[in-house]
Amino acid sequence: MIGPEIDDIQEGGKLPVGIWVEVAGREMQSDFEPILERQIHDLINGAHGIFHMGQRDINWIRISKEAREKGFKFKHLGSILHAKLHGEYGKVFDKLQVKIFTRENEVLERLDQVRAVYQQRDARLADMTDESVETYYSCALCQSFAPNHVCIITPERSGLCGSYNWLDGKAAHKINPTGPNQPVNKGSVIDPVKGQWQGVNEFVYNNSHKNLEIFNAYSIIDYPMTSCGCFECISCLLPSTNGIMVVYREFPEMTPVGMKFSTLAGTVGGGAQTPGFIGHSKQYIGSRKFILPEGGAGRIVWMNSHLKQEMAPLLKRIGEENGIEDFYGMIADETVATTEEEVLEYISKANHPALEMPSLF
Ligand code: SF4
Repeated sequence: MIGPEIDDIQEGGKLPVGIWVEVAGREMQSDFEPILERQIHDLINGAHGIFHMGQRDINWIRISKEAREKGFKFKHLGSILHAKLHGEYGKVFDKLQVKIFTRENEVLERLDQVRAVYQQRDARLADMTDESVETYYSCALCQSFAPNHVCIITPERSGLCGSYNWLDGKAAHKINPTGPNQPVNKGSVIDPVKGQWQGVNEFVYNNSHKNLEIFNAYSIIDYPMTSCGCFECISCLLPSTNGIMVVYREFPEMTPVGMKFSTLAGTVGGGAQTPGFIGHSKQYIGSRKFILPEGGAGRIVWMNSHLKQEMAPLLKRIGEENGIEDFYGMIADETVATTEEEVLEYISKANHPALEMPSLF
């Protein structure tokens, strides 16, 4: 435990947190790192009175008054991870140590290093397509709080938390064949544009407690993929613009749809299909399968500025591929538009391609 402990802060207070897990062992491979890292979410949520949300560099943890009164300390996050990772994944490593940082400078100074690793992980799949494989992978890790939700992870659509891609699903299944990541045989193709397969429909039906019969991996309107609550981003329709907006989970302000991220998350999350809304990873925005039946990323008319800047290379590539000059500049953000009317005004002046696309309804 490096930094202030729970006893050093007032009730209702907050601190930065960095969880640094180091492992060693002859069987350990770098491909296993994302799998072990993602277990942090599930394992911490297993502790009574502790709530973990998010992944990668956007985690947050809530500790209940009851847990604190019963003696919970931040250092116990490390005890939980040490015991549970050894117990469940001990065959892929020999030794493990956990450091918990709660001083802002010590958390921030590690961010560049971890973000470089996240970029390397995302780049591994660059040339794979959904058509090039017969098997996708499921993820049911988030059923701990969204019991009917199951992510279907394909090469071109990563898990909606952004921390599991297709290769991670494959590696996770190899490590733990009976775990939350199972191979899903696509079976026959029902709709290649919406992303619907007979084998996936059957799998999702059987693993959503028979709640979902039809499941389109790429559509935002027609039987879209469900969301748990861990999505990095939410996309939703802005009907009068004939386009969509995308907001990142760390954006705290009002969005043009009239809801903040937290309210939107309540609408989208929990494992229900919500036509017009999807939760997804940042990486999925750059996928050629991003809302494919609705016309793809060319529909994006608003993003919060931080996300837009981070996604600039992807948005510029999308513009070039679709022959749209300055597509990046055509997308509004909160510095120029905070209401749907202002978005419409902005994109009309910019001659945004969404205005010429087929109507969404
Ligand atoms: S969001 Fe999806 S891929 Fe990520 S941990 Fe949850 S179920 Fe798995």
